[in-house]
Amino acid sequence: AGPTLGLTGGIGSGKSTVARALAARGALIVDTDAIARALTAPGGAALPAIAQAFGEAAIAADGALDRAWMRERVFADAAQRERLEAILHPMIGERTWSEAAAAAAGQPVVFDVPLLTERGAHWRRQVDRVLVVDCDEATQVQRVQARNGWPEAQVRAVIAQQASRAARRAIADAVIVNQDLTLDALDAEVATLWRLWAWPAAQV
Ligand code: ATP
Repeated sequence: AGPTLGLTGGIGSGKSTVARALAARGALIVDTDAIARALTAPGGAALPAIAQAFGEAAIAADGALDRAWMRERVFADAAQRERLEAILHPMIGERTWSEAAAAAAGQPVVFDVPLLTERGAHWRRQVDRVLVVDCDEATQVQRVQARNGWPEAQVRAVIAQQASRAARRAIADAVIVNQDLTLDALDAEVATLWRLWAWPAAQV
């Protein structure tokens, strides 16, 4: 298998933009958030076990996980949260590795994991390197407000739930400071890391 990278950063830091720049150079991206969403979308593989553990009320009318209902159940109840995670985490892990196995010989594999720092001990064992995309909170707020149309307080509430910038930096092998940076300059930072790591040129 090729080199493996864990990619993380706070909400609005620019992870997805960096992931796209890595994909454009030939990396395989495994998006763990997308995997979690697919498992709980209508027809999702995790739904039967969730319905069995929590009851049919956990499933919304459209056949997907009722996220609001579940959030209320697990928010202040660690046992319920662990119950849900005991169902989801092994399934997410299994899909993560089966997607990674599709990499060509030598192809870099990038795991896009928003909560990598929160599970840092686990991920440090799984990947060769960790790349953190960092920016200040004001930049995060401004980007997510512009992209999602959220009120500032909602963005700040999400930031408060996530790992701190210091905690992220502490587990990083490399940090891209994506602040006061044009998209072209951000792409150039990715190109520099690609060369530094001696990752192979994309096969065409
Ligand atoms: P989330 O965790 O919310 O999914 P993310 O970390 O993946 O966010 P992106 O979606 O890559 O972040 O970036 C957030 C927004 O900011 C996007 O609309 C993106 O186009 C914009 N953006 C990111 N970096 C820059 C930059 N250097 N210059 C201008 N816009 C940027």
